Amino acid sequence: MTDAFVTRFAPSPTGWLHRGHAFSALSAFEAARVAGGRFILRIEDIDRTRCRPEYEAGIFEDLAWLGLEWETPVRRQSEHMADYQRALDDLAARGLLYRCFRTRKEIAEEIARAPHGAMEVFRGAPLSAEEEARRLAAGEPFAWRLSLEAAAGVLGGFADLHFTDEHRGRVQATPAVGGDVVLARKDVGVAYHLAVVVDDALQGITHVIRGEDLFEATHVQRLLQALLGLPVPLYRHHRLLTGPDGKRYAKRDRAETLRELRGRGMSPADLKREMGLG
Ligand code: GLU
Repeated sequence: MTDAFVTRFAPSPTGWLHRGHAFSALSAFEAARVAGGRFILRIEDIDRTRCRPEYEAGIFEDLAWLGLEWETPVRRQSEHMADYQRALDDLAARGLLYRCFRTRKEIAEEIARAPHGAMEVFRGAPLSAEEEARRLAAGEPFAWRLSLEAAAGVLGGFADLHFTDEHRGRVQATPAVGGDVVLARKDVGVAYHLAVVVDDALQGITHVIRGEDLFEATHVQRLLQALLGLPVPLYRHHRLLTGPDGKRYAKRDRAETLRELRGRGMSPADLKREMGLG
C-alpha cells in the first residue's frame, strides 16, 4: 500500500447511513484499491449534542456489510479537540478571527434586511473593544469567525489560491462564497471546516473524494490550508445519487437507510448494481 494515495470517508454519526453515504464510501474505497493506496475511516463527531454511539456502531456495521475494510484505530474527532484548538489559537493570535456574539435569529434578520443579492452570506464586522469587553464580562457566548478581510490581507488577496478537482481541472478558489465562516461554534468549541483541514493534513490525506454538495466547502478549506500552511490534497467531487423523486438522498428527508435495505433482503451486490458501481 502506498502513502502516495490516501483517501478517507468521514461520516458524522448523527443518523443512520443511506445510499448517498454508501456511494461516497464505495467511491473512495474503490479509488484507493485501484491505486494500491490506503483507505481511512474518520468519525466526525465534534457535535456531541447530535452524535450518538448507536449511529457510530451503525457506521461500522453498514460499511462492513458493504465489504469495506479500513485502517484502525479509527480517528474520532471528539478525542482530538486539542489539535483543533491549537490551530484556532494560531489563527486567533495572528488576528485572523473575531468573536461573533450574534444569535442565529439576528443573523437571519440581518441577511433578510440586506438589499437583494448584497449579502447572501454573512460578513459581520468585529465589535468595538469596549462593546466586546462588556459582552465578555457579561458571560455572553460567542463563536469565532474567520475574517475574510484579514485573511486577504495576510495572503495578499485570493488570486493565487487554487486546487485541483479531478473533473474540473485547476480551480480558482473563491473562499468569499462562504462568507466569514464560523471556525469555533458557541456550543461545540470547534467547527467542521477547521477540524476537516487539520485532520486531512494530520492523516496525510492525498485525495479527498466526496460529494458535489461539498464543492463550496472545498473553497473555504483551501483558504484554511493556505493560512495554516497545510498541504493541499487533490479533490474529486462525485455526482450525487438521486432517488426516484429526483431529489438527492438526505438524512433530513428520511431517506431509506442501509440497515433498512439490509432488513428487506437487499444484498451489497444489488445495491452496487443499482448505484452503477457493480
Ligand atoms: N462529515 C462530513 C459529512 O458527514 C463530511 C466531511 C468531508 O467529507 O469532508 O457530511
